[in-house]
Amino acid sequence: MPAEELLALASATIQTIDPSASFITDEVLASLSAILPEKLVIAALDLIDRRNVIHYVTPWGHTEYEVLGSTETGANIILGESPSSYSVLLDIQTSPVPYSCSCPAFLHSVLRLESHIMCKHILAALIARQMNMSIIRPTSVDELAALFIRQFPTKAETPRE
Ligand SMILES: [Zn+2]
Repeated sequence: MPAEELLALASATIQTIDPSASFITDEVLASLSAILPEKLVIAALDLIDRRNVIHYVTPWGHTEYEVLGSTETGANIILGESPSSYSVLLDIQTSPVPYSCSCPAFLHSVLRLESHIMCKHILAALIARQMNMSIIRPTSVDELAALFIRQFPTKAETPRE
């Protein structure tokens, strides 16, 4: 099945999740596992369980997600001190792949090999958004800059919008 169709199916399935539910039904889990690798689905749900999806909203309405690595937990993150966190952008209008993640798996399996349509961080952000389970943080310019530096430590110059 082409990636666009898989993606449309995955989005449609995620949209069937009740936003007020605190858990995912077996039915949704089975549907998602039929579209995406089961391991990916389980890993994404684990990230949500750990409250590892953080939703940043800037005063000017830019939103992005930070997803902490599987070994971190949302409870002990201190801004500026988490080495394994990834930046997830959803709803990118200008790209054929409508989201991005800064993790190596996204770059390798999604963009380069095209063997996967998304990584676990993107799936976690999509599901957390649907279930209102991401931790929302209003973010100032300084905090957003700190976030970029943390996520792209090797890049001296951060791309600006
Ligand atoms: Zn990722």
